Amino acid sequence: MKFANDNGIVFVADEIQAGFCRTGQWFACEDEGIVPDLITTAKGIAGGLPLAAVTGRAEIMDSVHGGGLGGTYGGNPVACAGALGAIETMKELDLNGKAKRIEEVMKGRLTAMQEKFPVIGDIRGRGAMIAIELVKDPATKEPFAEAAAALAKYCHNEGVLVLTCGTYGNVLRFLPPLVIGEDLLNEGLDVIEAALAQI
Ligand SMILES: *Cc1c(COP(=O)(O)O)cnc(C)c1O
Repeated sequence: MKFANDNGIVFVADEIQAGFCRTGQWFACEDEGIVPDLITTAKGIAGGLPLAAVTGRAEIMDSVHGGGLGGTYGGNPVACAGALGAIETMKELDLNGKAKRIEEVMKGRLTAMQEKFPVIGDIRGRGAMIAIELVKDPATKEPFAEAAAALAKYCHNEGVLVLTCGTYGNVLRFLPPLVIGEDLLNEGLDVIEAALAQI
């Protein structure tokens, strides 16, 4: 941030996935103590209705000519009403607190799984945005894409949706709904544990 300020660089935080309670903060950059010049948001902003926003310092936002920042459906009133309702619900249900609790449960259980299954080379993430990295050898951390693919297949067959990602395709991402109940969360983790035992 200081480097950006000193060098006239616009600091943009892309909070499209990380924003709106996903990481246990309204915006993930809050955990870094950063105040960005611009923030991009979408996805969670309107609880599923299509909406995106670019929010920033007035001197940046006002530098664009009228209509210079927009889209065909920009400012759709129904989607905007959806966003206001979604944000109100996030506050009411304390979804930041929920995301922090999801992190606590998931990291606790995944750490216990890592002790049993050294194929888990790393556990990372914040709030309800958690990933595990699958490795062939915990010492070298050699990527194990086949393990990630096999785990994802097992989980999908059992009705648990997980994402594979990462440069080497060896990372499994978990993005449970912020309103998930703890029983269902643990049930999902049971499936992941059974998948690890199976491969
Ligand atoms: C989905 C996504 C985008 C694209 O958002 P649109 O609203 O479809 O333009 C950009 N950045 C991240 C991190 C995303 O997850």
